[in-house]
Amino acid sequence: MKLFDGHCDTILTLLGGPHSGPKPVGALYENDLHVDLKRGLELDAYAQTFALFGVKEMGDVFSLLYSRFEKELEANEAHMTFCRTRSQAEAAAKAHKAAAFLSVEGAEVLGCRTDKLEEAAEKGVRAFGICWNRANELTGTNAEDPDRGLSGKGRDYVSLALELGLIVDVSHLSDPGFWDVEKLCKGPFVATHSNARAIHPHPRNLTDDMFRAIRDHGGTAGLNLYTAFLGEERVTVETCLRHIDHFLDLGGEKTLAIGGDLDGCDTLPEGIHGISEVRLIREALEQRGYEQTLLDDIFYNNLMQVLPLQD
Ligand SMILES: [Zn+2]
Repeated sequence: MKLFDGHCDTILTLLGGPHSGPKPVGALYENDLHVDLKRGLELDAYAQTFALFGVKEMGDVFSLLYSRFEKELEANEAHMTFCRTRSQAEAAAKAHKAAAFLSVEGAEVLGCRTDKLEEAAEKGVRAFGICWNRANELTGTNAEDPDRGLSGKGRDYVSLALELGLIVDVSHLSDPGFWDVEKLCKGPFVATHSNARAIHPHPRNLTDDMFRAIRDHGGTAGLNLYTAFLGEERVTVETCLRHIDHFLDLGGEKTLAIGGDLDGCDTLPEGIHGISEVRLIREALEQRGYEQTLLDDIFYNNLMQVLPLQD
């Protein structure tokens, strides 16, 4: 199977997370985290968006995370290619390398500065989310200040991101902020790692109207594997299928994608330990008789279609 995962926090976790110490440079190839290239490359094709994320107490988060990504890229040049476009990802797949994309998760990673946003775009960042859980001067989030949408500065910031060719990610935005972004985007925008609120009423998840708006813009919504966003009590592959079925019922055949939140979450559905076991979800859908073309779209093509073919 081919997999394009739209969101992981592996770069931050390599620097040291709450459950593991820092890993040596090069450890992106093989480690005991949720994501490594070795497991990804067992797939027929593997594309991964790595989020650059951290809290402001870390200082210049962008430079810190970007420089770790560069070091991993250098150490793993036989195994991965830094990509911005679909044609680059296709070339990487042909060469049996992982296609690595970058996103920035939260404008505070960039100090909410426009020059840093320009720098991020210049350095190859492809996607940009205006916030993480913490509210910032640009917007409220679905975890903090949830009734506050984009400020004037926030709207200007999103407009600049669009001008720079970045794909805007709404996964952590407040509900009013979501609709502000929807108005600003003429083309596709994405919720890289968000599930269905109708199935599990968590504010991190998308309402049906939000999902339809993303669909109508030609964007994607990626299934998040963090159990807190999937359901109550026992969370299994079946729980994931409930979210998938709901999005498909909303006409999401070309909208639904994968955004596992791997290495950014503590607990995964039973039987899933990381990137390798995402195939269990596909296999469960196969057993139910879902068409191969639909599954190829969900697990790979839909997210790929959002990217420009060339820069
Ligand atoms: Zn996130």
